Amino acid sequence: MRINPLLVGLAIAVATVNAANPAQAAPCNGYVGLTFDDGPSNAHTPALLNALQQNGLRATMFNEGQYAAAYPAQVRAEASAGMWIGNHSYTHPHMTQMSQAQVDSEISRTQQAIANAGGGTPRLFRPPYGETNATVQSVESKYGLRQIIWDIDSQDWNGASVDAIVQANGRLTNGQVILMHEWPANTLTAIPRIKQVLANRGLCAGMISPQTGRAVAPS
Ligand SMILES: [Zn+2]
Repeated sequence: MRINPLLVGLAIAVATVNAANPAQAAPCNGYVGLTFDDGPSNAHTPALLNALQQNGLRATMFNEGQYAAAYPAQVRAEASAGMWIGNHSYTHPHMTQMSQAQVDSEISRTQQAIANAGGGTPRLFRPPYGETNATVQSVESKYGLRQIIWDIDSQDWNGASVDAIVQANGRLTNGQVILMHEWPANTLTAIPRIKQVLANRGLCAGMISPQTGRAVAPS
């Protein structure tokens, strides 16, 4: 077997760089948007934030307004942990069956509850069940919200196993967004392995751009 001297030189150069920066994380060849819906709560948010931080992951938390109002300290904890906070309606209704005034109330009260809690003013909105129509979209526009559905549904809400949740994350490609929830025990268990499957492919957890709706490097 012939050894290409150029590749040997490259390998030495890479090894030298890594040795010089031992604490530096692996490079990101792309970014994905991890999302966790239906919080916050005292029951689940602290453990989820802890697991994400332990694994160097940042995510977008689509909060329900009713829970942001009930657990404002958890909204602040999400922000302090470096998470992005999105609007997921106030009461999690089927919004396509509502009047424009009802949709407006769901969205505006949630914007207010998250801001009041210290979570900033959301720029992203995920309609419950991913159900949307022209009325929902017109209210989103009114509040400057980018609608975010998902590219991959982890099925964690539907009893997916830890393996299945990890595998769903392993199918993500650059820029894509995956649906998860803050309450399933299997999702919490999957977090370290999600970090691993992403790292194996050079992907990092990023923010979802309000301009494009795609996952990008944190700014
Ligand atoms: Zn939901």
